[in-house]
Amino acid sequence: MKKTYKATCHCSQVVIEADLDLSQTSFRCNCSICRRSRFWPAIAMPEGFRILSGEGELTRYVFGSQKNHHYFCRHCGIRVFGVGNETPIGKMYGVNIGCLEGVTEEELSRIPITYVEGMHDRPDRAPEFFQYL
Ligand SMILES: [Zn+2]
Repeated sequence: MKKTYKATCHCSQVVIEADLDLSQTSFRCNCSICRRSRFWPAIAMPEGFRILSGEGELTRYVFGSQKNHHYFCRHCGIRVFGVGNETPIGKMYGVNIGCLEGVTEEELSRIPITYVEGMHDRPDRAPEFFQYL
């Protein structure tokens, strides 16, 4: 069931709200940016995503195909969310689960994870090695 969660960057200048179902799978990907930032997203649809404050503090980073937009706080560097503009489910937001407020460690440890082979651009399959992600 979807619930509304708040997520913040480390310095709390960026605050977003997202409707997430944490019983649905989250993702860990081995692509060059997810690996470096250890990004752990839950998926929100555009109608279930709102920036509450700090939009002006965000820096957008794009690379490669330019399809995915990676946002981080320009003060503390934390990535609260990213935007996938052309995914199999259309435009969607990846909300950094590590930034969620009001979620216990026990709840975090129960969130299902799908491992994704982003390194070779094959998001339909799991990487051979994924335990380190
Ligand atoms: Zn910040």
